[in-house]
Amino acid sequence: MTRKRIVVKIGSSSLTNEQGQIDEEKLTDHVRALAALKKANHEVILVSSGAVASGFARLGYASRPETLKGKQAAAAVGQSLLIQSYIDKFNEFDIMPAQILLTRGDFADRERYRNAFATFSELLDRGILPIINENDTVVIDELTFGDNDMLSALVSGFIHADQLIILTDVNGFYDKNPKLHADAKKIDYLETITKEMILSTESSGSSVGTGGMKSKLVAAKRALSLGVPVFIGVGTGDDKLLNILKGKGDGTYIADYSIQAINTSRQWIALHSESAGELHIDEGAERAILKSGRSLLPAGIIKVEGEFKQGDVVDVYGTNGHLGKGEVSYSAKEVKNEIIRHKKESTTDQYVPAVEVIHRNRWIELS
Ligand code: GLU
Repeated sequence: MTRKRIVVKIGSSSLTNEQGQIDEEKLTDHVRALAALKKANHEVILVSSGAVASGFARLGYASRPETLKGKQAAAAVGQSLLIQSYIDKFNEFDIMPAQILLTRGDFADRERYRNAFATFSELLDRGILPIINENDTVVIDELTFGDNDMLSALVSGFIHADQLIILTDVNGFYDKNPKLHADAKKIDYLETITKEMILSTESSGSSVGTGGMKSKLVAAKRALSLGVPVFIGVGTGDDKLLNILKGKGDGTYIADYSIQAINTSRQWIALHSESAGELHIDEGAERAILKSGRSLLPAGIIKVEGEFKQGDVVDVYGTNGHLGKGEVSYSAKEVKNEIIRHKKESTTDQYVPAVEVIHRNRWIELS
């Protein structure tokens, strides 16, 4: 099998018990399977939940805390316990893990985003197995990834993974809720995830984790949009991950090979950047950027909003609403001047060289 870059996401209920302890048996099973993937020469990245779930009991709570400070303190306790267990277990296979705790803020800042990419690459080049979690102890509501399913999808896109494997306690996606309908059928392969499918699933997860199938489908949709195929399902034993890679997993495989991977800087524009303004464009420009893959020129811009600078990201609106985001090569003031210059050109016949307000490589369509 050719070498692949694989992100494996493991949820809290697959790592801990209801009493708030790490389930050593479950964790060992995962570690053995991850080690087998690495032994088969694949690059492996683990997104592991379970910080809150394995920390609350040692913090003195009888069940998963409801308060923010309770959860954040439990994560501080549990994250170190988790990593300690991972280090001990991976050590038996001569695998060195590395802990990476991320917040959405790390991705929103372009320099930190680039740094994170360089760090990931260095770790993988050196054969380390990165273990990622959200930095639950410090994260504030506005800066969360939502849940680790979404974190694993964003990380998969970010590092251009060949496969995202979401291990959970349900063996895939069903056409109806299997808990309510005895005749519900498992769907083995999907090419696309529709809104209806997402609406048909439950958002509640287990008592120790968050999520449920809904958040897995939402995350899978995101991963697909970034060109990463996804598996959602279950497995046990040393070969479970290798079997999943071979197409023999018990779950749902979701892949759309018509979607191309998106380079990291365009992913940043699309998913993590904050918009500094708006450009409203006419139908001709809309056609040019959406259908012909051209850059956005001043002639098609009808309205400029916001005080953006060169290099900022702006939202672009067409006649029927939001079209996408792009990085501007000029400030708001310069764009306005260019528009005036172009108006002059059309009335005086005086040639004005065209400038690209948003270069096509710095544009991303968002529907
Ligand atoms: N980051 C959380 C934890 O480690 C889990 C979030 C999730 O379950 O999606 O406890």
